[in-house]
Amino acid sequence: MVGLVIVSHSQMLAQGVLELAEQMTRGSVVMEAAGGIDDPDNPIGTDPMKVMMAIESVAAQSEEGVLVIMDLGSALMSAETALDFLPDEVKEKVLLCSAPIVEGTMAAAVQASVGASLKEVSAEAGAALNVKIEQLAPITGETVQAAGPAQEEVLEGEEVSCDLLVINKMGLHARPAANLVAVAGKFQSTIQIRKDDKTASGKSINQVALLAVKNGETITVTATGPDAQQAIEGLKALHADNFGERDEDVAEVVMETEPCKVGGEGFVSGAPASTGYAVGPVYAHLATLPEVERIDVSDTDAEAERLDQAIATALADIQALQRETEKTAGKANAAIFEVHGLILGDKDMRDNAADLISAEKVNAEFAWFQVMDKMASDYRGLDDAYMQARAADVMDCGGRVLRVLTGEGEQAIRLERESIIVAHDLTPSDVAGMDPEKVLGIVTEIGGATSHAAILSRSMGIPAVIGTGECFQQVSDGKMIALDGFEGVVWTAPDQAKLDEISAKRDQWLADREEAKAKGAAPAKTVDGTEIMVMGNIGTPADAPRVLEYGAEGVGLFRTEFLFQDRDQEPDEQEQFEAYVEAAKAMNGNPVIIRTLDIGGDKPVKYLDTPVEENPFLGERGVRFCMARPELFRTQLRALLRAASEENIWIMFPMISGVEELEGVLAFQAEVREGLLSEGVKIADKIKTGIMIEVPSAVAEAEKLGAICDFFSIGTNDLTQYVMAADRGNKSVAKICDSLNPAVLRMVKMTCDAAKTTGIEVGMCGELAGNPKASALLLGLGLDELSMSGPSIPEVKEAIRAVSMDDCCALAEKALAAKSGDEVRDLLK
Ligand code: PEP
Ligand code: MG
Repeated sequence: MVGLVIVSHSQMLAQGVLELAEQMTRGSVVMEAAGGIDDPDNPIGTDPMKVMMAIESVAAQSEEGVLVIMDLGSALMSAETALDFLPDEVKEKVLLCSAPIVEGTMAAAVQASVGASLKEVSAEAGAALNVKIEQLAPITGETVQAAGPAQEEVLEGEEVSCDLLVINKMGLHARPAANLVAVAGKFQSTIQIRKDDKTASGKSINQVALLAVKNGETITVTATGPDAQQAIEGLKALHADNFGERDEDVAEVVMETEPCKVGGEGFVSGAPASTGYAVGPVYAHLATLPEVERIDVSDTDAEAERLDQAIATALADIQALQRETEKTAGKANAAIFEVHGLILGDKDMRDNAADLISAEKVNAEFAWFQVMDKMASDYRGLDDAYMQARAADVMDCGGRVLRVLTGEGEQAIRLERESIIVAHDLTPSDVAGMDPEKVLGIVTEIGGATSHAAILSRSMGIPAVIGTGECFQQVSDGKMIALDGFEGVVWTAPDQAKLDEISAKRDQWLADREEAKAKGAAPAKTVDGTEIMVMGNIGTPADAPRVLEYGAEGVGLFRTEFLFQDRDQEPDEQEQFEAYVEAAKAMNGNPVIIRTLDIGGDKPVKYLDTPVEENPFLGERGVRFCMARPELFRTQLRALLRAASEENIWIMFPMISGVEELEGVLAFQAEVREGLLSEGVKIADKIKTGIMIEVPSAVAEAEKLGAICDFFSIGTNDLTQYVMAADRGNKSVAKICDSLNPAVLRMVKMTCDAAKTTGIEVGMCGELAGNPKASALLLGLGLDELSMSGPSIPEVKEAIRAVSMDDCCALAEKALAAKSGDEVRDLLK
């Protein structure tokens, strides 16, 4: 197979192009990115040695040769120089290609993946712009000048044809077209695709894409040659599989291909974390800098020492943040911290500040601020937009050092007017502490759809797009932007037409939401009369009235960690007691299930000294953390037992992994209760106590666990990640971390069966419970109660009202017999 080397001035650009091409060819082609220069101070440029090494490495793995695709200017020179350094036997296998870097690489990669020769791959890449030219012809009037790749010679032999109706939402756009070409390329026969009077070679990505086959159009596929019949069968199978495209992929494609059509210059995309639309001015939540005063000092050595320690602390924080972010949001999202580490590790900055301290006899804060400010303004003064953007990074990580020196924390978000908050990241308390009336939408650069900021924004009904990657370059305080939380798109420079369009969609969405709330009020009964409890998930007592508004019949999950996070010390017993009672009172006597502290894993709490662990999701988390800190746990259980004696509060323990552990936890609860009774505090005789089922071992032991507790609540977010061994916050394994995978559904069924055997109630409070498409399936699996964020309640109730239990059970049986999450999704359509 032919391999590719992508040469660019920017390592990020080369890497990005490579990732896109790998996605299209599913990693089947050997490719390397040779971008930028290995100089942290000056990373933009091209390096012939780097290019040479990449070519050598790809050539060693690619028998058919290597195609080198470059961006511009010195990239060409570097590639030519690299060729001069290569031994003759390698050089003769290498072709430099004049194709445009993005389109050319995509076309070349797909062509290479079907086993084409080096010349064919190069020709395909060279014609790559034709697709764009043809597509834009009605607007630009431009026509394709360059000769396309040669038409395939039609082989002798059997001819087999079939008609295929294309039902893909976006037609045969890049990805399904690439899949078609990949399958066609496996056969010796000539394959031609005809649409109306146009014919394309089925082995040419450009030609197939140029057919511009839309949703609802029919193509005729003709195979001629020795394996014609097999080729047609192969293509029919691909067609039956929606050309290898999943519904979820389409939203992504819309974002990839439509930035210009959708108005304005710029847009960014991320996880559609909370549905809804918003239009409004940006509130840029940059970590603000502490005030710095100039103070004269006499002991300059001590000041320099303070500075060194502050830099070391800030560096350690950044490294911890990077590790944490890698685990929860993937390596790509965490890469920004690597840049910050490099900036802070820069000896020049430290030495300049130390020189200033001794020359002017000033305090470390003042000296450091002068140096970082100058460094940031040097960046701003550069011509290159990429380099200018580094100024924000200098201020960001330099600000960390200032905060360590001054002991000042980060600043809370205070909105003067309705705004869309744009932040690098938001802590759960940032979100919880915001005035929801003023927050039109939320955009963050890092994080995923199940991050806690995302869960909170959903529960508050605030549209959110999470994990957009760098986006501060494109927005500034007060600038009008538009956001679509259904598709995960943020228009950073919308024109008036786009603003009007999204405003109209927002009005409609708000009106629909009001209507939905009205529907949410009635109970959720199936057509044959089975009533299912539909409850709300909350993070603070203030959320309780919000879920009630949507029709919640109680609280199925109160995540108490939000009361503990982002403060300097834990809430005491009385503060907790009051919070629990407040939530219960707001629910007017309906049950409120309060989960004991579930920290560790992705939920660190600074003042509790949460351990830095290799695998925090497999570490001291949930009850494991609390049992190891009896005083912390005792305080919470005292508050809970007192509150549950006054209100309809049930207590729930997270992360239970076995019988012995639960027995230990229950014994501790009994001891706390005895302690309260001995102090003369009245505690109710019976307080309902249950557990989360989110660890696979708890499913295996569910009957024994059900015998010693009062209810189960299935946490599908964690259960899925532990069953599938796929981190819930890591985008690259998001497809594997699928709650609809039959393996996860089987676990749900086993839990429900065990609950029935032991005569206890079983609910679900993970994200799957809020998916209305899954409601019938969940009823069929045996759930008595579903708990979710407020805005999901009305739709889930409507879905329940539309089905009968017999249908639900039949659906569940089919889903359990399915082979994949996708097959289950098809059943739910
Ligand atoms: C779950 O794991 O499904 C759950 C509800 O708990 P959390 O998302 O808070 O970990
Ligand atoms: Mg959980």
